[in-house]
Amino acid sequence: MSQTKVYILDLGVLECDEVWLASAPNPGTLTNPNPPANWVTVPTYAVLVDHPEMGRVLFDCGCSPQWKSRWPEGLQGVFPWTREVPLVEKLKELNLTPNDIDALIVSHLHMDHAGNIDLFKGTKAGQNVYVHKKELEYAFYVTHIGPEPNVGAYVKADFSDIPGIVYKPVLEDGELARGLEVVALPGHTPGVMGMVVHLEKEGTLIFTSDGVYSSKNYGPPANIPGLIYDSLGFVNTVEKVRKLQKKYNAKVIFGHDPEQFSALKLAPEFYE
Ligand SMILES: [Zn+2]
Repeated sequence: MSQTKVYILDLGVLECDEVWLASAPNPGTLTNPNPPANWVTVPTYAVLVDHPEMGRVLFDCGCSPQWKSRWPEGLQGVFPWTREVPLVEKLKELNLTPNDIDALIVSHLHMDHAGNIDLFKGTKAGQNVYVHKKELEYAFYVTHIGPEPNVGAYVKADFSDIPGIVYKPVLEDGELARGLEVVALPGHTPGVMGMVVHLEKEGTLIFTSDGVYSSKNYGPPANIPGLIYDSLGFVNTVEKVRKLQKKYNAKVIFGHDPEQFSALKLAPEFYE
């Protein structure tokens, strides 16, 4: 029987002030009261799991190619997608189209993870979009209660009112298929969900998404980022990931870690 394979799809880079990713990365002092921001470049990616029973499962789907019209201007300046690699192009490189995907797991509904849900309108994956229940509740709530449809890094058009998209709310940690688990990693947002994949040859991979941005947040001790919903929740999530890492002797793959990303195997190479 074929075994599970994991492909990491490089979707380019975002740039931003490091203050969103770490707390006070370049604070002022008496002698240097107004230091410049640390402007950083971070990777954005999706993960394709080729599973013998569940089929092709895509974890996260990156930024919308329409970001320059879809995102509010403020957000475009704060987190510009400066090296654009559209998901559909990346799938094409593997001889795949959105129709070849069987399910979508979206770690959370921010614009750099949920921007291509509409690509799966009318496909099998579009009928199977797994998002944590708390993320669905929160993201739909904040984008529907005021006159402004986009709030923080939530862009309403990424995930709301897309005909043919059916969300499957995830209520608790557990297996979606043999050796493929989802785990709640709240803190960054109320319902960030990570993915744990157990592989025959290369052991266990834990994809934290923005549950943990980078090794800088992982510590120990945990370093709380600037963009945060619940700081104590974030610290608890770091501890949860650390326990899982220990339990499975796993490799932890962070959400936006440039140094780590440069050392990963990227598609068309794969983990198995
Ligand atoms: Zn992100």
